[in-house]
Amino acid sequence: MSNSNTVLSGRDLSKTYGNRFTKGNVKALDRASFSITEGEICGLVGPNGAGKSTLIKLIMGIEPRDEGAVEMNGLDPRVALGYVPERPTFFEDLSAYYNILYFARLTGAQDPEGTSRRLIDEFGLKGRGDDRVSSFSKGMKQRLAIARAVVHQPKVLIMDEPFSGLDPGMMIELRGLLKNLKSRGMAMLLSSHELNEIDQLCDSILFIKSGNIIRREDLDRPRPQMVVQLKLEAASDAVAAALSRWKSVSVSGDRTVFSVEASREEVPEVVAAAVKAGGRVLEFRPAQVKAEDLYTEVFRAEVTT
Ligand code: ADP
Repeated sequence: MSNSNTVLSGRDLSKTYGNRFTKGNVKALDRASFSITEGEICGLVGPNGAGKSTLIKLIMGIEPRDEGAVEMNGLDPRVALGYVPERPTFFEDLSAYYNILYFARLTGAQDPEGTSRRLIDEFGLKGRGDDRVSSFSKGMKQRLAIARAVVHQPKVLIMDEPFSGLDPGMMIELRGLLKNLKSRGMAMLLSSHELNEIDQLCDSILFIKSGNIIRREDLDRPRPQMVVQLKLEAASDAVAAALSRWKSVSVSGDRTVFSVEASREEVPEVVAAAVKAGGRVLEFRPAQVKAEDLYTEVFRAEVTT
């Protein structure tokens, strides 16, 4: 699972929480393993309660683990990682600058004053650096939380639901900032329910279910099979029969939109078969594999449409 470019890996991570109300135990993580390579942005995706936050807390050492190991090429993950919690807290009565400077000193960052000023500008807080954090909007606080987390130039930035509660404009802005960090070689692990953001930003997805990483998907990997979508003028039995040669992904209720799975070489044949059967093709679109399709496939039982 890991290779020479691995910057962070977890092996057989397990955690059971004791529940003082029911006196029962909750197995939140059950031998979860993963690895992340240099410069990779990896999305951690799964239903509520799947164990995302617990995995992140175990990586960060915020919760003690029952079993397993976190490895960062011999570095101490608590020092060598950057961390943005789900609900970041600040010294609200202090300025943004002092909030970053506090972390810069705590983590032993080089030139803490200069670095803190630079991050204020880089994270779009120019002109607001000396204002109290209590006057900041949700989007500004999120950018500040990330600026603070990268003050010591970590190899990997870990974020728990970084897009939660942001409006679309803020999300686009944040995506740009994260891509910028990636261009400088920083890897990221981020949990999110925002599958569109995962599509836009991530190189890979870890799917987590009942405390287990059940699948890893590399989004940029060329696939032998692709999904082809055809939109037709009218529904016809002949076209449906012609397309039944390929595995059906979906068919619209009125049978005017067909999505089938085909190999790259077969794509022209799919269109030709529909036309030959008398179908008048209005649109034809080879569809990218999307996080949402993968999510539906992986968590089929949980998704009701
Ligand atoms: P996710 O982030 O995917 O929503 P969590 O890691 O928060 O999942 O939770 C995984 C499971 O562990 C859930 O069943 C949750 O109720 C339970 N859990 C999480 N934190 C605690 C805790 N501090 N005490 C007891 N149970 C917890």
